[in-house]
Amino acid sequence: MKIVFATGNIHKLQEINEISKDSGIEFILPPDGFAPVEDGNTFEENSYKKAKEANRVSGMMSLADDSGLCVEALNGAPGLFSARYAGTQQAKIEKILNELKPYKNRKAQFICVMTLLDKLGNVIHVSKGICDGKIAYKQSGDNGFGFDPVFIVDNTNRTMAEMSEEEKNKISHRAKALSNMLDFLRSNIL
Ligand code: IMP
Repeated sequence: MKIVFATGNIHKLQEINEISKDSGIEFILPPDGFAPVEDGNTFEENSYKKAKEANRVSGMMSLADDSGLCVEALNGAPGLFSARYAGTQQAKIEKILNELKPYKNRKAQFICVMTLLDKLGNVIHVSKGICDGKIAYKQSGDNGFGFDPVFIVDNTNRTMAEMSEEEKNKISHRAKALSNMLDFLRSNIL
């Protein structure tokens, strides 16, 4: 069964297809014309907007995710604005390390919300995944993307960027949200 995944990011598409490889579901990119506007006030709203846009251009069952890094000492920032927090990945890392310099509280969460729409555009399931951790004092590791080099996963002494793709796919916020979504699809749709 094919489901449109509302992204233009081929890396994300490969990641979710890898996690769901034995599920009988193949996620595909939206057709040309996919142009979501992410101006919602929550991860839920933005994932709905992306899924709705993918459904509009494809007429197919559509799944979207919205994710970000929420830092406790920064009252949940950068949160919804994680993607636009700074111009480059390295700039994002340096900015978060600088902003957190005055704080001992380094607690943070990666959050991911996924929304699934049927082919008529109705919401059929919403799932959420959280990965708890803390912001390191310096970056380490070369894997992954975004804030991975400064996010130390709880109960490990490593940043996400020090984990293999396979390890990250077991514990990440996106993997958890997707696992819940796949359970729903197996029980209700497949
Ligand atoms: P979006 O869900 O594609 O809108 O991405 C939101 C932003 O959150 C990304 O550009 C990253 O900066 C950050 N982010 C989300 N998930 C991850 C992750 O797994 N590792 C590192 N950064 C992430």
